[in-house]
Amino acid sequence: MAKEKVTFDFDKKGDFSEWYSEIIKRAELGDLRYNIKGFIVFQPWSVLAMEKTYDFLEETLQLKGHKPYWYPVVIPEKNFLMEKNHVKGFAPEVFWVTETGAGEKLEEKMALRPTSETAFYQMFSIWIRSYKDLPFKTYQRAQVFRYETKATRPFIRSREFYWIETHNAFDSKENAFKQAEEDMQTTKEILLDKLCIPFIFFERPEWDKFPGAETTFAADTLMPDGKVLQLPSTHIISQNFTKAFEVKFVDEKGKENYCWTTCYGPAVSRIFAAIISIHGDNKGLIFPFSVAPLQAVIIPIYNEKNKEKVLKESKKIQEELRKAKIRTEIDLTDKTMGEKFYYWEMKGVPFRIELGEKEIKEKKATVFLRHEGKKTKEKISGIEKFILSEGTKQMDYLKKKAVKEFEEKIVEADSIEKVKKAVEEGKIVKTGFCSVSMQGNDCAEKIEKEMNASIRGTKFIKEKPAGNCIVCKKKAESVVYIGKSY
Ligand SMILES: [Zn+2]
Repeated sequence: MAKEKVTFDFDKKGDFSEWYSEIIKRAELGDLRYNIKGFIVFQPWSVLAMEKTYDFLEETLQLKGHKPYWYPVVIPEKNFLMEKNHVKGFAPEVFWVTETGAGEKLEEKMALRPTSETAFYQMFSIWIRSYKDLPFKTYQRAQVFRYETKATRPFIRSREFYWIETHNAFDSKENAFKQAEEDMQTTKEILLDKLCIPFIFFERPEWDKFPGAETTFAADTLMPDGKVLQLPSTHIISQNFTKAFEVKFVDEKGKENYCWTTCYGPAVSRIFAAIISIHGDNKGLIFPFSVAPLQAVIIPIYNEKNKEKVLKESKKIQEELRKAKIRTEIDLTDKTMGEKFYYWEMKGVPFRIELGEKEIKEKKATVFLRHEGKKTKEKISGIEKFILSEGTKQMDYLKKKAVKEFEEKIVEADSIEKVKKAVEEGKIVKTGFCSVSMQGNDCAEKIEKEMNASIRGTKFIKEKPAGNCIVCKKKAESVVYIGKSY
């Protein structure tokens, strides 16, 4: 068998698709050989980073008053059929559980949850009685299942994915909107501040809302191939839902009202796709310090004579780093020094500490900074402080770089030809549009069909349009953003 080459060298911007497939395989992020289309085995190097992402999200949600629940993975058919837009939107993608192993048909079909509004609301109708119960803020971390018919890609779109879903009930539409704003703030605190991923929240047009929602706000980022990737979205759910499920409360005056609800769905596995794609380079992954499965790796450099001494010193450094809660390992494999360097660069470990006889004598270790590709000498004593402070700087660096690249790709255009050209170049294009209500119309259809792109929506804080609709030339009523999506 030919030896696989040790170096990772793929052109991320030139052929992103190849880069993405190769990094998933080489860095052991997910294994596709389980062999059910649209399902993958998530491996430790992705799971560890996704666990961290879950930690950040759950900690933040709990601080903002959401209580955790664990619901059954199955939802009875009758719940599912309660709200007609929801059924229409989700029915084609549902996996139904219909019979037992003995071949007996179940009395009632059950859906593997594609999302859990219809599970949560059934219980909300039992638990919520009075205005004193509101706001009622919940969440669960869970897998959801959707029979995707579009092309699946590991982490980006699969038939099973990992997310958090929050479900919340309020006494007024105004308070529901405030929750949506809070969700957008949460997204910033986690995605931008902890994971260094830039995005814009758009209010989705009428035809692209979550099935059963009155308003949908969704965060979009850009992948290296110029395609828009939808990240967390938050929805103000139509009261049709609470009416169908009888989710009611008695207000201060003793009057019965239907609740307003919202939901928010950060998909952790898809966020992971953005982390690896946006920060990685031609040599492999670059994990932000916050979520790196390993934050530092120690490479001992020794010969038979000084092996014991070098390993002892390496262990001492590891202990100090671990005491400071820095995730650290020592590479004790038989690989050559070069192979070790390439391997950990490809795996995206933020800091590599090289330690040999010379370093021990000088009391300074060589530290390689993956994100900048440069080496520095640092005092061994107190090296944990250096790593922690450089870790913060590393995240600043990645954030600034990613934000700059993202902003450079948002451009304005005032004609169909210009929009088309910019979309082809992998940009998000800002332009005038004739409809303010964002109802589907001929212009929208023309844009989406002719350009093979989609209207992502308007910004949450509305911008003042100037000029005309690029299609019909009527006076523009709103400012929309257009991009290619997966
Ligand atoms: Zn128009």
